[in-house]
Amino acid sequence: MTETFVPPTRFAVPGRIAVNEQAASVWQTATLTEIRRETARAATYRFAVPGWRGHLPGQHLLLRLTAEDGYAAQRHYSIASAPDDSGHVELTLDHVEGGEVSGWFHTVARPGDQVEVRGPVSGFFAWPGDRPALLIGAGSGVVPLMSMVRHHRARNLAVPLRLLVSARSPEELIYAREFGPETTPVFTRSAPEGVAVGRMAAAHVAPLLAEQPSSGWEAYVCGSNSFAEHASRLLVTAGQPVDRIRIERFG
Ligand SMILES: Cc1cc2nc3c(=O)[nH]c(=O)nc-3n(C[C@H](O)[C@H](O)[C@H](O)COP(=O)(O)OP(=O)(O)OC[C@H]3O[C@@H](n4cnc5c(N)ncnc54)[C@H](O)[C@@H]3O)c2cc1C
Repeated sequence: MTETFVPPTRFAVPGRIAVNEQAASVWQTATLTEIRRETARAATYRFAVPGWRGHLPGQHLLLRLTAEDGYAAQRHYSIASAPDDSGHVELTLDHVEGGEVSGWFHTVARPGDQVEVRGPVSGFFAWPGDRPALLIGAGSGVVPLMSMVRHHRARNLAVPLRLLVSARSPEELIYAREFGPETTPVFTRSAPEGVAVGRMAAAHVAPLLAEQPSSGWEAYVCGSNSFAEHASRLLVTAGQPVDRIRIERFG
């Protein structure tokens, strides 16, 4: 509880509140323990949440900042970390220009600061690791998908998983250092030499559909409204059943 968020004169982070370890509906205190830069615009924030009841890859939480005068700002953030018993969760935030909450995190927040979180929420976008998963994301839409990739690795799961991720450039590709053969990046503005530049297209999706396992893919799409619509249209055109496409919109 050492810092304020934007605008600095108005807000202070809340004091410690009671934690109910059983209920996702209860606000819990989260202490920022580490900040890791991912790209020029995105950073990962690691929190200690002693009462965290666990989550499934793909779920998100609600995060609340409260001002000294009682004004509160609340936003949804996907959980980037895989489920584990460390008592920590990680979020990755894009710095939205003029953004109240992301702006505070990117310009003011320091390890030791406390915020409130509530969750996890949204079982619909969760992937328990039990079925083949085709993940498609753009920008910070890769965050919940990365939790799935990390879970897949941490548990050494045999079930097939593929990630198709769109970013403006290699420099803006969040988690670039962590990706392995499961991932195909698509660059829309600039790309390494020899790699095509352009919007995600049928040519990216069709090969993944062609290699689908006999039980088919469960598709998880995450990004802005327009990206989610574009990607789900590509999937349906390539033959993916509509009722096996799950969409999370950040817009
Ligand atoms: C389910 C869910 C999960 C999400 N997970 C993540 C996540 O993992 N990482 C992440 O960075 N964000 C995520 N978001 C978006 C996040 O909730 C906020 O909307 C975002 O951080 C902006 O909040 P802010 O307070 O900084 O900006 P605000 O003060 O709310 O907005 C400032 C200005 O930016 C515009 N704006 C708001 N949000 C966006 C946006 N996402 N992109 C572009 N312009 C915007 C507003 O219209 C306004 O003009 C998620 C959203 C949802 C619904």
